[in-house]
Amino acid sequence: MSKPVIPVATVRRGLAIPPLARDPAAGPLVDARGRGLRDLRVSVTDRCNFRCTYCMPREVFGADYPFLPHAELLTFEEIVRVARAFRGHGISKVRLTGGEPLLRRGIEDLVAMLSQALPGVDLTLTTNGSALKQKARALFEAGLRRVTVSLDSLDDATFRAMNDADFPVARVLEAIDAAADAGLAPVKVNMVVRRGTNDQQVVDMARHFRGTGHIVRFIEFMDVGATNGWRMDDVVPSAEVVRRIDSAFPCEPTNPNHFGEVAKRWRYKDGRGEFGIISSVTQAFCSSCNRARLSTDGSVYTCLFADKGYDLKSILRGNGSDDDLSRAIAAVWQRREDRYSEIRTAETAGLRKVEMSFIGG
Ligand code: SAM
Repeated sequence: MSKPVIPVATVRRGLAIPPLARDPAAGPLVDARGRGLRDLRVSVTDRCNFRCTYCMPREVFGADYPFLPHAELLTFEEIVRVARAFRGHGISKVRLTGGEPLLRRGIEDLVAMLSQALPGVDLTLTTNGSALKQKARALFEAGLRRVTVSLDSLDDATFRAMNDADFPVARVLEAIDAAADAGLAPVKVNMVVRRGTNDQQVVDMARHFRGTGHIVRFIEFMDVGATNGWRMDDVVPSAEVVRRIDSAFPCEPTNPNHFGEVAKRWRYKDGRGEFGIISSVTQAFCSSCNRARLSTDGSVYTCLFADKGYDLKSILRGNGSDDDLSRAIAAVWQRREDRYSEIRTAETAGLRKVEMSFIGG
C-alpha cells in the first residue's frame, strides 16, 4: 500500500461556501435531490489509539503521521456554535465521533455544553470503548443518553489483529457493561464485517448480544478514504449476514424507527431482541441520506465519500455572525447532490476521498 505524499489533514483546505440557491426563510431546508437535514456528525479529533486495518492502517497512520495540530481543531465553543446553527435548520440528532472521541480531553464538558445548548436533541457518541469504562458515568451525568461501541469480533485474537493495537475483547465487553450500568443502555454495537477476516464470527456476535437489550449492527466494509485497500471481494453483503443469522436464530424485518434510519432493523422471532444491518455497499441509501458531517478542523462534508468539505472555520474565526454561519450551512445543503454509494464502481473506489477518521464515522 503506498503512503500518501502529503498528509491527509494538511491538504484539506475547505471549499469556499457557495452562494445560496434560494432564500432559506422560504421553506424547509432541502438539498438538490429533495433530502432534508436531520443528523449532524461531529469529528472531535482525528486521532485514535486503535489502528483498525480497515480504517486507520498503521502503514499510513504511523508514528510520524502528521495529525492536526491542536490549534486547528475546533474548540468546544466553536463546535457548539456550529451545532446550534444546524439546530436552527432542524437537525434532531448530534453524534460525536472521530478518530476516537474519548481521546479528546474534556469530552464530558463538550457533552454538557451541547446538551444544555440543544435541549431535545438526541445526543450520542461512537467509541471504540477503550476509555468508556472510566468515562461512562461522567458522560451520562453530562447529558449523554446513548452510546455506540465498535467491536468487530468476540474472538480475542481476531479482534486484537483487527484493531492492531493489541486491545483485548474483554475490556470492550466491560466497557459495554459499564455504559449500561451508567444509564447508557441499550448500547449499540458496531461490527464491520470483512470477508475472510471476521465474517465467521457473525453468528457468535448475534448469539452473544441476543437477549441483552443491546443491538448489534453488522456493517458492510466500505471504501471510505483511500488507505484501507478496499476490494468488493472483501464485502460480505448484508443479505448473506441475515441468512447466516436466520439459520441459527430465525428473524424477520421490522419497521424503521424513523425515515432515513441508516440501519435496517431485524428482530428475532423468539422475541429476544433485534439487530441491524448497514448495507451502504449493496443497498445504497443515498436517497434518504439526511446526514451532514463536521470535520475536526471545521469543514462541513455532505457525504462520507466526499473529497473535500466546505470551510466553516473561516466564518467562525473571521468574526462571522451566527446568521453568516446559518446561511453558509443552508447554501451548502441546498446545493448538495452527492449520491456516491449509488454510483459506486471498482473505479470510483480508487478515487481520492477524505479519511473516515477525519470526518467521523
Ligand atoms: N473511534 C470510534 C470507533 O471506533 O467507533 C469512532 C470512529 S470510527 C471511524 C466509527 C465507525 O466507523 C466504527 O464503528 C468503525 O468500525 C466504522 N468504520 C471505519 N471504517 C470503516 C469502513 N471502511 N467500513 C465500514 N465501517 C467503517
